[in-house]
Amino acid sequence: VLIDLDTLSETSDFQADLCIVGGGAAGITLALEMIASRKHILLLEGGGLIPTAQSQSLYQMDIVSPRFQPTTRSRLRYFGGSTNHWEGSVRTMDPIDFETRAWVANSGWPISHSELLPYYDRAFSYVETAPRQPDERPFLEHLGRFRDQFDAGGFSFRLSYHSPPTQFGVRYLDRLQAATNVTIATNANLMSINESSNRSSVESLTICNYKRRTATVRARFFVIALGGIENARALLLSDAVTPGGIGNENGLVGRYFMDHPVVKALTFYPTDDFIRSWNKGAAMYRSTPYNRYLEASEATLRRHQLPNSRISLVPAPQMRTSKGIESAHQIEKAISERRALPNILSHLGNILGDRDLIMEAWRRTRGDTPAKSRGDDYGGYLIEMMMEQRPDPENRIVLTDVRDSLGLRRGRVHWRVAEQDKDDLRRMVNLFAKSAGAQGLGIVRSWLELDDTDRTFTDLLSFGSHHMGSTRASHDPRRGVVDANQRVHGRANIYVAGSSVFPTGSHVPPTATIVATTIRLADHLKKWLS
Ligand SMILES: Cc1cc2nc3c(=O)[nH]c(=O)nc-3n(C[C@H](O)[C@H](O)[C@H](O)COP(=O)(O)OP(=O)(O)OC[C@H]3O[C@@H](n4cnc5c(N)ncnc54)[C@H](O)[C@@H]3O)c2cc1C
Repeated sequence: VLIDLDTLSETSDFQADLCIVGGGAAGITLALEMIASRKHILLLEGGGLIPTAQSQSLYQMDIVSPRFQPTTRSRLRYFGGSTNHWEGSVRTMDPIDFETRAWVANSGWPISHSELLPYYDRAFSYVETAPRQPDERPFLEHLGRFRDQFDAGGFSFRLSYHSPPTQFGVRYLDRLQAATNVTIATNANLMSINESSNRSSVESLTICNYKRRTATVRARFFVIALGGIENARALLLSDAVTPGGIGNENGLVGRYFMDHPVVKALTFYPTDDFIRSWNKGAAMYRSTPYNRYLEASEATLRRHQLPNSRISLVPAPQMRTSKGIESAHQIEKAISERRALPNILSHLGNILGDRDLIMEAWRRTRGDTPAKSRGDDYGGYLIEMMMEQRPDPENRIVLTDVRDSLGLRRGRVHWRVAEQDKDDLRRMVNLFAKSAGAQGLGIVRSWLELDDTDRTFTDLLSFGSHHMGSTRASHDPRRGVVDANQRVHGRANIYVAGSSVFPTGSHVPPTATIVATTIRLADHLKKWLS
C-alpha cells in the first residue's frame, strides 16, 4: 500500500508492528527484509516519489568548516534517498577496520568482519553487483610480477565492484507495494520521537505532512533510518523527556561525525612495463565488472600505526598534474591571504618550466581550447587518496536556534580535518613513494611538498559524501549511542540504521556496509517480533 500524506483530506493515526522512518538504502532494505515476517511494517518517507524543492530545502544546515560540502547537495530527500545519486562503488570493509586499533583512538566495532561477511553477501545482491570474490588474486593476474612487487613493498591491490548503480526507490517500490503487510507513507516527516516518562521505551512518533497536519504513529518497534546526519538530528530534536535528546545521556549523539576526505595526494609515474601490464587488465573478469585500487597492507598499517586509505590510480593529462599550474595557484593564494611562501624560488621555477601550460590553462578559461595541446598529453597517474578520518568528538552535528519550514531546529555541522589526519596522509604518501622507488615500480611526486598554503585541505579537497559516525555503536553506553544490535542504549524498542552507527569509517564507500548491517538488524528484529 502506498499513501501520500499530502493528498489525504484528513490524517489519521497509524499503528504497526514495526515502523521504519526513512526510505533510503537502509530503510528500504529493512522493509524488504521484513516482508517475510508477515508483521505489519510501516515505512515513513519525508519526501515524495520524486524530488521537490520543498522537501530538499529541509536538508539545509549551517556548516562550520574550512571546507565541507553543502548538505543540500550531498544528500537527496525523497524516496530512495541518496541512492538516487550515488556512484555505485561497492566493497566490504577490511577485517582491520573492525578492530580496536591502539593507534586510532575510539576505534573498534562491537561486531567483527567475519560476523558481517554473510550479511555482506546478501547486501551485494540488493545493490546488484556480482557476488563477492573471497579470492581476488585471479582478477589481478594480468599485473604479473607487479602484483607481488607491490605486495612485497607493503601495498596490495584490491577490487571494488560496480552497482548499476541501484536506485533503491525506483528498483524496489513495486516489490514493496506488492507486499500485503507493508504500508509506505510518503510526505510523512518525522517531527519527534516520543519516549515514555521513565525513558525505557518509545511510545509513539509524531509526523506531519507539508500542510503541517500532524499524526501519531504507534508501533512495537521503531527504526530511525534517516541517513548519517539526520539520524543524530532526530534524536537530538526529541528532548521532551531526556534533556539533550534520546540516547544522549553521555553527550555522544552527533559526535564523532566523519566523511571520507578525498585528497590530491601524489602523481605516480610508473615504468612502461607496469603501464603495459596495468592496461591489460580489462574492467571485466569472468563477467564481473570491477575496479582496481591499492591500499597499504594490514602489516604496513600496523607497523606504521596508520589509519586505512585508498590509493586509486588514474591516468591524468598534464593539465591536471602540472607543478607550474599548482605553483601559480599557491602564489595567488599566498598573495590573497597576505602570507609568505617559504618555497617561493621553487614555485617560480615550476612556473617557468610549465609557462606554456599556464598560458594554455588561461586561454582555456576564456573558452579558447586548442585542438591539440601539451595539456592533453599523458601526465602520470594522479592519485587522489580517499582517507579514513580518525573519529574526533569535535566533529559533530548540533542543533541551532533557527527553525526549518516545519518548525524544527535546524542542524549545524562542525567538521575539520585534524592535524593528525594530515600527518597520517603525509606519512602514507612518503611510505608509498619509498616503496614504489625501492621496488623499481616508478617515481612518485608528492603534491603535499608543493603545498605551502594548505590548498590540499581547502580549495583542492573533495568528499565521498559519506556521512558516518554520529550515533556510533559500542557495547558500552559511555562510548556509543547504540549497542551491537543498533538499539539505542537504555531503550527497549528504538533502533538506528545506516552509517551513523559506524564507529570508524575505513576508506570504503559505506553503502554495502549500511545494507549488510541493516540486514543483520532485520534478522534481530524478526526474532523479537515473532
Ligand atoms: C554523489 C554521491 C556519490 C556516492 N557514491 C557512493 C558510492 O559509490 N558508494 C557508496 O557506497 N556510497 C556512495 N554514496 C553514499 C550513499 O549514497 C549513501 O551511503 C546511502 O545513500 C545512505 O543510505 P541511507 O539509507 O543511510 O540514507 P539516505 O539515502 O540519505 O536515506 C535517508 C532517507 O530518509 C528520508 N528522510 C530524511 N529526513 C526525514 C524525516 N525527518 N522524516 C522522514 N524521512 C526523512 C530521506 O528523504 C531519505 O529517503 C554517495 C553519495 C553521494 C552524495
